[in-house]
Amino acid sequence: MARGGGWLYYCRQLFPSTALTHPPLASHPPPLYLQVAIPSPLHRSFDYLPLPGVVTPKPGSRVRVPFGSKSVVGIVVGLSTHTEVPADKLRPAEQVLDSVPLLGESLLALYRWASQHYLFPLGLALQTSLPKPLREGEPPTLATALVWERTEAQAIGRPPGVSAQQLLDCLQRYQRLSSGECSALLGKPARPLLTALQRRGLVREIAAEPALREARQLEAALALNPEQAAALAALRLGPSGFRCSLLEGVTGSGKTEIYLQLIADVLSAGRQVLVLVPEITLTPQTIARFARRFQARIIAFHSGLTDKQRLQGWLEAANGSAHIVIGTRSAVFTPLARPGLIVVDEEHDDSYKQQDGFRYSGRDVAVYRARQLDIPILLGSATPSLESLHNALQARYQLLTLKRRAGPASLPDIGVLDMKLQPAEAGISAGLQQRIAATLAGNGQVLVFLNRRGFAPLLRCGHCGWIAECQRCERSFTLHQQPAQLRCHHCDGQRALPRSCPQCHGHDLEAVGLGTERSAEYLQACFPDYPVLRIDRDSTRSARKFSEAMDIVQSGVPCILVGTQMLAKGHHFPRVTLVAVLDADGGLFSADFRAQENFGQLLMQVAGRAGRAECPGSVVVQSFHPEHPALRYLVTEGYGPFARQLLSERRSGGLPPFSHFLLLRAEAARRDLPLQFLLQAAELLQREAPRGVSCHGPLPSPFGKKAGVFRAQLLLQATRRAPLQQVGARLLAALEQDSVARKVRWFIDVDPLDFS
Ligand code: ADP
Ligand code: ZN
Ligand code: ZN
Repeated sequence: MARGGGWLYYCRQLFPSTALTHPPLASHPPPLYLQVAIPSPLHRSFDYLPLPGVVTPKPGSRVRVPFGSKSVVGIVVGLSTHTEVPADKLRPAEQVLDSVPLLGESLLALYRWASQHYLFPLGLALQTSLPKPLREGEPPTLATALVWERTEAQAIGRPPGVSAQQLLDCLQRYQRLSSGECSALLGKPARPLLTALQRRGLVREIAAEPALREARQLEAALALNPEQAAALAALRLGPSGFRCSLLEGVTGSGKTEIYLQLIADVLSAGRQVLVLVPEITLTPQTIARFARRFQARIIAFHSGLTDKQRLQGWLEAANGSAHIVIGTRSAVFTPLARPGLIVVDEEHDDSYKQQDGFRYSGRDVAVYRARQLDIPILLGSATPSLESLHNALQARYQLLTLKRRAGPASLPDIGVLDMKLQPAEAGISAGLQQRIAATLAGNGQVLVFLNRRGFAPLLRCGHCGWIAECQRCERSFTLHQQPAQLRCHHCDGQRALPRSCPQCHGHDLEAVGLGTERSAEYLQACFPDYPVLRIDRDSTRSARKFSEAMDIVQSGVPCILVGTQMLAKGHHFPRVTLVAVLDADGGLFSADFRAQENFGQLLMQVAGRAGRAECPGSVVVQSFHPEHPALRYLVTEGYGPFARQLLSERRSGGLPPFSHFLLLRAEAARRDLPLQFLLQAAELLQREAPRGVSCHGPLPSPFGKKAGVFRAQLLLQATRRAPLQQVGARLLAALEQDSVARKVRWFIDVDPLDFS
C-alpha cells in the first residue's frame, strides 16, 4: 500500500473518519453543524456548532455568529453531520434569532438557485434584498399601525371639498385606512386633508394591527373588447399550475385591464398576487389604479419607503395579510404566504436587471419562482424582449397578442423626416417646426424626445480643435447651462466652464451637438406663447418642479414637453397628439448587438405616448438615414414583425437568445492589472474549459476607463447553459485563490446587458 498505515488506512476507506475517532453511541447522536450564509464575498457557507442547550435552528432562521473578530447576522441554510473545519477552529453560534424560520423553504430555495445561477454569494444575495432591520437582527414583529377612521360626527357648516369628500367616502367604505392607503386611493398625498378633517372632528387616528381581511372588488371591471376577451379567456382556461404567458399588446391595448381582471380571480380564490413593474413606472397613479379596483391590502415597495415601512410590508406579505404586492425588481424576493399569480409588466425593461452587486434579472427570477411555486406568471409588454418572444415562439410560453388599442384611441401613424433635405436648428428641422406650430394652434400638446440631457455633448475649441474631456473617464464632458458647468455623465464629475481654450488660449469655444436644454431653449424662443417643459434627470431632481410640470400637462393646455426616456415610460399624456423623435440615428449605428432591439422598444414606447385618448396622434422621426432598412421596417411593419426579423438575425449570428453569455469583468487603478488578471483566467479556461464554451478576449472594455478606474473584460459564450454555469463555478473557485485577483475588483455578470 503506497501510503502504508495498514489496517487503520483500510478502515478509513470503509468508514467515514468521524466514525473512527468518535465511535457512535446510541445516546449521543452526532452533532448537527449549522451551515450559515454570511454576507461575505466568499462563495460558500460557514460551519458553526449549535448553541449548547438551545433547540437547533431550522434552515431559514437567522443566527448571530462570530466571524473573524466581529459578530454578524447570518442565515442557517443547511444542517450537516459533517464538517471540514478542524475541531479547534469550530466556534458555536452566539444567538438564535428566530425560533420559527424567517425564510420559508421555498424562498430559501429561490435564493439558493439565484445565487448559483448568477454566481453570486448566497449570503450577499440574502443581504441585498432583506429589509434592513431583519439584516441587522431585529425581531420580525408586525408593528401596530396608525390608521384613520371616520368619527360619528357629521360635517356642519362649510361642506368638505371634493377631495375631502372623496376621502370621507373611502373611509366610510373601508372603515380603516392608513394614510398611505388614503394617498393611494386619492392618487395624491392625503395627509394634509386628513389633518384638516381631524381638526373638524370628522376623522380620527387610532393604533391597530393589520387585520386579515378578505379582498373585495370595488370598481366594476371594464367590458373587454374581443381581443382582450380572447386573451383573458386563454389565461383563465390554462392549467392551474405553472404556466408562463406573454401578453404582447401595443401601448394602450388594455393589458393592465387584463391584469386587473385576472388578479380579481386570484384574489377571490384567497390567493396573493405579486406584480413587478419597472423602476420608473411605480408611480402613485399606478398604485391608485389597483387601489381603486380592489378593496385589498396593497403593499407597494418603492424607493421612498423607510426601513420600518419596508419591514412592515415584507411581514404583511409573509403572513398573508397583504393581498397584492407591487414593486420593482427586488420585490421578486418578497415572501408570500399564499401565492397565486405573478405579473411582470413591461417585461422588456432593462431596469429588471440589477447592474451592480447581485446582478440578477427580476423577470427571469420571477419566471423561475412561478415554476417553483407552480403558479401562473404573466409577462406583458408592447415591445417584448427578444428572449421572451423567442420562448413564446418556441411554445415554451403561451403567446397572446393585442393589436388594437382599447377604447376610442387609435394607433398613431409614424413618419420619417429626412434630415438631409431640411434646414435644421438646435436639432429641429423646418418641417418639424411647422408640425409643432400646427399642433399647438390646434390646442394639442407636443412631446419632443431626445435621449441626451444637458445643453450639448461636446465643448470644442473652434480654433485648435481641443475638446473638454473628463480625465477620469477619457470621455468628453457634457456642457450644461443650468447651472453653467461641464459635467461628466459617466462619473458625475464637474468642472467650471473654461473662459478660453486651455491649449491655444483662443476664445473660440463652441458647443457641439444637442441636448435637451438646448432644444428646450430653442423651442421656447420659437414658441414664446406656450410653456416648454423639460423632463429629464436634471429637471426632475426637484419633486416640486416635476409635479408642477405634470400639473400643466394634465390641465390640458397646449404646451411642449422636451425630455429623455423618462418621458417614454409610465406616464399618460392624454392630450399629446404629436410626438417627435429628434435623433433616431444613435440607436441604429451602435456596436452593441442589442442596440436595434432597444431602439425599436424605445421608439415604439415613445410613439405610444401619442393619441392615448380620443385625439388621434402622429409621430415624426427625424433621421439622416431614413432609408436604413431597420428603421424602414420598424416604421412600416411595427414592432412585432421588426422583432421577429431581429430574432432571425440573432439566430444566424448565434447571439442571445440563441446562445448565452457570461462576462468576467476586472477593474483596477493600474492599467495593466485587469488584463493581467483576465489573461490568467483565460489560461485557466484554456486548460479545462468544457466543450461548447468559447472565450472572447480578454480585451480592454469599450469603456476602458471610468471614474479613474481601468476596465477590461473576458466574454464566455455557449449555446447551452449547463457548461457555461460549470465554467463559471470553476472560475470562481480558482480566482478566489488567485493572488492577482486580490489587486483587482472583479465580478461575473451572467446574461449581461451592459457590455460597455
Ligand atoms: P396598456 O396597459 O396596454 O397600456 P391600459 O390597460 O392602460 O393599456 O388601457 C389603456 C386605456 O384604455 C385606459 O385608459 C383604459 O382604461 C382603457 N381601456 C382598457 N380596456 C378597455 C375596454 N375594454 N374598454 C374601454 N376602455 C378600455
Ligand atoms: Zn484652442
Ligand atoms: Zn468622468
